[in-house]
Amino acid sequence: MENNPLELDRPVTSKRKFKELLLQKDNQFCADCNAAQPKWASANIGVFLCFKCYNVHRSLNTHVSRVLPLGDEWSDDDIDAMVEVGGNSSANSIYEAYIPEGYAKPSPDASQEERTKFIRAKYEYQEFLKPSLRIVSSKYHQARKNGRVYRKVAGESD
Ligand SMILES: [Zn+2]
Repeated sequence: MENNPLELDRPVTSKRKFKELLLQKDNQFCADCNAAQPKWASANIGVFLCFKCYNVHRSLNTHVSRVLPLGDEWSDDDIDAMVEVGGNSSANSIYEAYIPEGYAKPSPDASQEERTKFIRAKYEYQEFLKPSLRIVSSKYHQARKNGRVYRKVAGESD
């Protein structure tokens, strides 16, 4: 993003934009499973989440996903991060850009296992990202070669 010349105005503007984000149609449903009325969000990813997906995100490293309840008081940085992404549709256009044809996303009542597998593939391993944007470690590529894509790589810090 460009430097905002109206830096002093930033928190107010961001808060207003954040309120608009909450009202956006795409943000009325969980970014990962489409459940209605998500009450949580991942600030660094910029997606709105249902409780079940929030629980999976919470189990990820916070540098992968930093989850917060929408009802909490948010810091300006977290608000800015959400506003910058622009909501679920924008985030999914990146994180699900290369989702394989015929691949079914989890439904609102998907099992914990299915949900976890999808969420880790989507954000932690970034499997559906445009290939040039992927920033995964060599450990991951090794794991993938060994067919252990979804499982935790031994020695990986948490
Ligand atoms: Zn969900």
